[in-house]
Amino acid sequence: MSEELHYNLFVAFIYFMLFLFGAAVGSFLNVCIYRLPKEESLIKSNSHCMTCNTPILKRDLIPIVSWCILKGKCRACGAPISPRYTVVEAMNAVGWVLISMHFDLMINIPWCVLNCLVYSALLVVFFMDWDTQLISTYVVCFIGLLAVIEYFFLSDQSGLTLSDQLIGAAAAGVPLLIICLVSKGRAMGLGDVYLMIAAGAFLGHIKVITALFIGIVIGAIAGLILKKINGESKFAFGPWLSIGILISMLWGNDIAHAYLTFTGLGEIIYGEEFLRSSFHFIGTLF
Ligand SMILES: [Zn+2]
Repeated sequence: MSEELHYNLFVAFIYFMLFLFGAAVGSFLNVCIYRLPKEESLIKSNSHCMTCNTPILKRDLIPIVSWCILKGKCRACGAPISPRYTVVEAMNAVGWVLISMHFDLMINIPWCVLNCLVYSALLVVFFMDWDTQLISTYVVCFIGLLAVIEYFFLSDQSGLTLSDQLIGAAAAGVPLLIICLVSKGRAMGLGDVYLMIAAGAFLGHIKVITALFIGIVIGAIAGLILKKINGESKFAFGPWLSIGILISMLWGNDIAHAYLTFTGLGEIIYGEEFLRSSFHFIGTLF
């Protein structure tokens, strides 16, 4: 066997293991999504069927696989089990693999792990806020903790200084807090504000402004569509902010740079040097 093929097989194996681990963690995310709003313990008490209350057997708790084998039905009573559990597990597994490929797991393990954990937290925010219009303080604090870890151990990879991270928290937090207070929580809840403060600390100001912009645009479009379908104007903003944060986490600097180039703002603000700059240059300017 050639050395290159040997290495490629090894890489494929690593990503396969990451997929399995991601699915297992996705299973835990389901527990968070359902129990955090009810303030139930995340570790105690076993899962049970929502219809007949029968405890679910260990062999029926294999992420993704069990649901497929049981064809989405409870083994005891045959009641349908929501595909949501499997969707969350699969989204976490696939997301971890794609994010690790994006940042290249083989050369940058800690940075990939950090971003995968932020992604998992965003998945919880997305589904929990969608269901309950609540954003868990624990999840927001978890993202904030990852921002602290990023500052102490991974600032080389993030390219962010302490002031980038602090200004990021304020740049997203202050405008949203004003909107929240002026609208008395109707346009934007406090949970959304806390989420963007934590995200701002993690992403830095350039990426978090990009995230906010994407989140609001997607949220406005989704709001219009949901209003057409349900006739309700009240809806959660957290899911759309999460999507904005995720997109910006992966491509935020490129998007901000493209925006400044396209609108000509980059040259106006930074002069000719901007045009000669690399995509990363913008990140070092502020
Ligand atoms: Zn059942």
